[in-house]
Amino acid sequence: MEKKYGIITCMDSRFDPISITDLPPEHTYVIRNAGGRVNADTIRSMTIAHKFMGIKEWFIIHHTDCMVGKLNDEIILKALKSNLQTAEFNGHDWVNDDRFETEDNSESINKIEWQTFSDLKQSVIDDLNAIRENSLIPDTVEVKGFIYDLTGNTIDPVD
Ligand SMILES: [Zn+2]
Repeated sequence: MEKKYGIITCMDSRFDPISITDLPPEHTYVIRNAGGRVNADTIRSMTIAHKFMGIKEWFIIHHTDCMVGKLNDEIILKALKSNLQTAEFNGHDWVNDDRFETEDNSESINKIEWQTFSDLKQSVIDDLNAIRENSLIPDTVEVKGFIYDLTGNTIDPVD
């Protein structure tokens, strides 16, 4: 059986995760979300991928200039509580269109762990640890962390 690989990375359209890694496209599975973060749904996909598809080697790839790294929970909460229209960044703050209002959405907002980060390298380390500590992912599954630099088109390992 051909060896299969998995990538967990950001949904950002500015890069193609398979081509930046040189992994074989026909044998590489990709999980994408905002920030490329590890959470319950990532673990769900990884568990199925390992148990039933034999994927034993994973690459976590976070990237420079990531929107999730520019936000924090406070910004997200404030913006979403204001209204649900797309906010505009004025160079300093996120500005909401006050012509719109929204019903109280605190319960829905609080149900989500937004997984923002302020330290790119640490976000990779945290996600590596989240996988290594999860009891559904055995030690035989290898996980490596990387940072992809959008400007330089380089990919560097994170230990
Ligand atoms: Zn991103």
